[in-house]
Amino acid sequence: MTTQSIPKAHLSHAKGQPRPARQHVRAAIAVLVAAALVTAPVARLPLVSAAVAQTTADPGELRKYGSIPPVPVPPPALPDSGEIQKYGAIGAPVVPLSPSQTLPDLGDASQALMSPAQERKLGEAIVRQIRAGGGYMEDAEVNDYLNEIGNRLVTATRDVRQDFLFFAVPDPGINAFALPGGFIGVNTGTILLAQTESQLASVLAHEISHVTQHHVTRGMASQQNVLLTTLAGLAMAIIASKAGGSQSGQATSAAIAGTQALAIQQQINFTRENEFEADRVGFARLVAAGFDPNAMSELFDRLQRASRFSEGGMPAYLRDHPVTYERVAEAKARAQDLPYKQVPDSLTFHMVRALLQSYQGEPREQVANFDRAIADKKYNNAIAGHYGLVAALLRAKDMPRAKVELVTLEKIAPPHPMIEAIAGNVLMESGEYPAAVARFESALTRYPNKMQLIHDYPEALIKAGRPADAAEFAERELVRYPAEGPLHEIAARAYAAQDKRLKQHQHQGEYYAWAGNLPLAIEQFQLAVKSGDGDFYQMSVVETRLRALRQEKAEQEKVGFGPAG
Ligand SMILES: [Zn+2]
Repeated sequence: MTTQSIPKAHLSHAKGQPRPARQHVRAAIAVLVAAALVTAPVARLPLVSAAVAQTTADPGELRKYGSIPPVPVPPPALPDSGEIQKYGAIGAPVVPLSPSQTLPDLGDASQALMSPAQERKLGEAIVRQIRAGGGYMEDAEVNDYLNEIGNRLVTATRDVRQDFLFFAVPDPGINAFALPGGFIGVNTGTILLAQTESQLASVLAHEISHVTQHHVTRGMASQQNVLLTTLAGLAMAIIASKAGGSQSGQATSAAIAGTQALAIQQQINFTRENEFEADRVGFARLVAAGFDPNAMSELFDRLQRASRFSEGGMPAYLRDHPVTYERVAEAKARAQDLPYKQVPDSLTFHMVRALLQSYQGEPREQVANFDRAIADKKYNNAIAGHYGLVAALLRAKDMPRAKVELVTLEKIAPPHPMIEAIAGNVLMESGEYPAAVARFESALTRYPNKMQLIHDYPEALIKAGRPADAAEFAERELVRYPAEGPLHEIAARAYAAQDKRLKQHQHQGEYYAWAGNLPLAIEQFQLAVKSGDGDFYQMSVVETRLRALRQEKAEQEKVGFGPAG
């Protein structure tokens, strides 16, 4: 839920606003490719751009399933002809590696290539680049939900020792991908394509399996694929050269290596054996977590139909995970071996989909769509339909009606943190700041870990003229959730309202660093150093951080790795 209007002067988007993510992702990828070209002695890497470029499924297909009203989906983009040649890159000429870059003999120990910590660093760097390119949806509700369902799948078996982080990619095309280190991105189009929660879970289970089965590292170890070997060697060399070096260099190196790891990962996904294994392991995980065993083959059917009616080429997900007759047959056979089990969807699943739909197109059109669906009772879930209407009204800034519809929603719905959050936002947008603060406060006592509430409460405190309380709360939550970058942005505004400039610029800088924009991060830390309102300790902290960020940027420039977006 991202209806609050946070000024983001330097970023290309406002939270939750539908935007042409594809272009942003492409822009980011172009930068990644440029970086790869400069860094890598590989002649060209068109596969990077191809692998991540998104293709939209037929909008008509997205409309048909819906519990919630039809929504306008941006027209499908025709793939550039370059995309077709994705796998042509494998034959690209390869410059021999220098002795320091040669791969160690890995034998069977594919995991020795990178430590889990190094994989995590790579993944983090790639995610930062994805953020810089607008491919990361800063929406606590949607991301919270993906993590909830994702972690349910991860913890369904006791053998996974790795942390996972799931995030939404604001793109109507159908795709999902796993990155090194347990980062899994899911296009919003995939969430909307899934008719049931189990179908969405089947996509996540498959991607989780690519991570748990070490497909990335295993693929790197394969000596057959010259390109992969080269890239892996480079990634290794970069990481190895920094292992004993400066701290600040590591992230940069990871970012560069991550570029290639992403390319590698996309290649890995495509191998037939890995797809079958990810299906098999993913199926077991899906069932262990209590989801519907039939969901995997159902989703395959939907994907195939989506591609058949698609004008813009098949969904990216299908290109990276081709659904063959065999895969469908295997998924069906596996499900048939199990007793039939009715698995109801969670209310959150329906509400998250309604929220995503409320973000699309013109707010007024969405209000009309939800109104029509409610009047005709054309929804799978009445509560989600009413929730979507309130969300659309909030986006349309029709506060008097939002309040009325909120009352209706609360009458029919059980207690739910998403309703608490939207209720607080309706109060906030209506200018009733103390009431909003009170609502968020009571909600947080019931749902202390609900990220949307953790974002909204300090927002309301700032608006209620209590910036000191807002800053204190944000700082405390940043200790609990150090990777939650948007909290830095809120803290920055809370300090700005108190005219505490060092803290303001420090937090704004941390936000930009999280968002993958180093030049803006550095600018903020320069302002923090010049602020003149910090004590000796605070000054040395920001100076050290500024030096680290500068060094990181210099190293990026050395290899032509600039900011995106
Ligand atoms: Zn796959």
